[in-house]
Amino acid sequence: MRVLFVSAEIFPLAKTGGLADVSAALPQALVQGGMDVRLVLPAYPRALALATEKEIVAELPDATGSEPLRVIAARIPDSGLPVWLVDAPNLYDRPGTPYLDEAGCDWPDNARRFATFSRVAAKIALGEVDRDWHADVVHANDWHTGLLPLLIGQSTKERPPTIFTIHNLAYQGLFPHSVLPVIGLPDGLFTPDGVEYYGRVSFMKAGIRFSQAITTVSPSYAQEILTADYGCGLDGLLNLRRRDITGILNGVDYSIWDPAHDPHLPVSFDVGNMAGKLACKEELQRELGLTTDPAVPLVVWLSRITDQKMADVVARTLHRIFERDVQLAVLGDGEPALEAEFRDAAAHYPGRLAVRIGYREELAHRHLAGADLLLHPSRFEPCGLTPLYAMRYGAVPIVRHVGGMSDTIVDTTEWTAACGCATGFAFAQPNADALLDCLDRALAFYGQRSIWSRIQQRAMSRRFGWAEAAKRYSSLYRKLAPDTAAVIPERPPERLVPAKRMALVHETVGAPPRVKGLAADDPHQHVA
Ligand code: ADP
Repeated sequence: MRVLFVSAEIFPLAKTGGLADVSAALPQALVQGGMDVRLVLPAYPRALALATEKEIVAELPDATGSEPLRVIAARIPDSGLPVWLVDAPNLYDRPGTPYLDEAGCDWPDNARRFATFSRVAAKIALGEVDRDWHADVVHANDWHTGLLPLLIGQSTKERPPTIFTIHNLAYQGLFPHSVLPVIGLPDGLFTPDGVEYYGRVSFMKAGIRFSQAITTVSPSYAQEILTADYGCGLDGLLNLRRRDITGILNGVDYSIWDPAHDPHLPVSFDVGNMAGKLACKEELQRELGLTTDPAVPLVVWLSRITDQKMADVVARTLHRIFERDVQLAVLGDGEPALEAEFRDAAAHYPGRLAVRIGYREELAHRHLAGADLLLHPSRFEPCGLTPLYAMRYGAVPIVRHVGGMSDTIVDTTEWTAACGCATGFAFAQPNADALLDCLDRALAFYGQRSIWSRIQQRAMSRRFGWAEAAKRYSSLYRKLAPDTAAVIPERPPERLVPAKRMALVHETVGAPPRVKGLAADDPHQHVA
């Protein structure tokens, strides 16, 4: 089966968060399961610099007002997976992150940048770039690729089914109505049944609306996004499609995240040999200018500095955290005002608070290796890879019981500690008091060394490999394309909602034809 995996981030070519880790590891696991997986990524400067075996394979005409662009076939370093880089220098050859300029503002032409990316990915999927390769299934990820299911649906050719994975529903790719001609879409799509979202164009909505299957990155988040509290205004549409939604827990790539063979650590360690962990803690304390003291609990907060990660709560609770005998090491970037709050606070707690603002992959590994505890509060958490990595490094996570954290972290109580199944500490309410209570519980157990070792060892021994997730994605692909030659046949259009009605109410016009492997109310259709 040929799978086209399309993502705006793939580690190590581009990374701002967990999406990059997933886009690197899941395709590898699928390949190990016998699939032919190829990836597509914008040709950011770093991607061009790091990718190997680069070869220009196509020059494509201007589709959305950009200059002619090139498609470069290349390979991802280390894994050797094939990747097509979409090379449009006027769109992607920029400093900053894939989405933001150096001042942390959205690139003003993000709609055009990611519409172009999806258009080229659609051409690749349909066999228009490499005549010898077309996709049997297209796997799109997050809002950056939200137009892809729609664009494939518009093709008059045989169309592969699309699966759309929501890694984070809060980032939706919202743009003004006026962007439609810029991204080459007809105004007829600007309806509640199309891509309109409260007066704006939503790329995320397009992905949900026009894909054949939807996944999210944990079973609990799959349930939560159906509610008004976590649905980010898309819970109505998501409920209409609930039969097509699956929650598949992300895995951990233990070839990268394992203290037994991590090249970024000063000393290796493992569950059977914890001496190295102490050395890593001492080394981290020295590197960060913290007082070198093996006994004081070292808490790490490694995170994007955003509302999602309760960065405001952490920043404003620092003085209360330091009423306890702890050290805190902060590594993160994000909201500039909160970054400044953390920087300013560092001066007040010399030797106890270390703040590093910025994105530092190697330092992230050393933080986890040196930490006793990982503080990882979230208002919502689709999966939460960092706590899973932390567990492997013996940094016991303190998390909010939400999303993927509910599926992965076993809270420590007297009972779970006694039976040896506790792997972390969880709190319910997204506020400072709940966080501090949880921290106090953790510190109380930290003081009981033999129980603490058991919690740490259990956390380190838990495995969240990618093989299981890859199996589940594979069976979903097979369900969508039961034989690899299967493509979605031409069929009359159907609507999820009549164009004139604003409320999202399920209504099917006529009986839709059944397509093997697809839900009867599958929305794949011509939309122009
Ligand atoms: P999210 O995708 O919501 O940001 P995850 O915990 O799932 O959260 O994934 C975050 C990923 O980004 C992890 O690989 C984590 O180590 C990494 N990360 C986050 N902030 C930084 C940073 N400042 N420097 C280096 N790595 C970071």
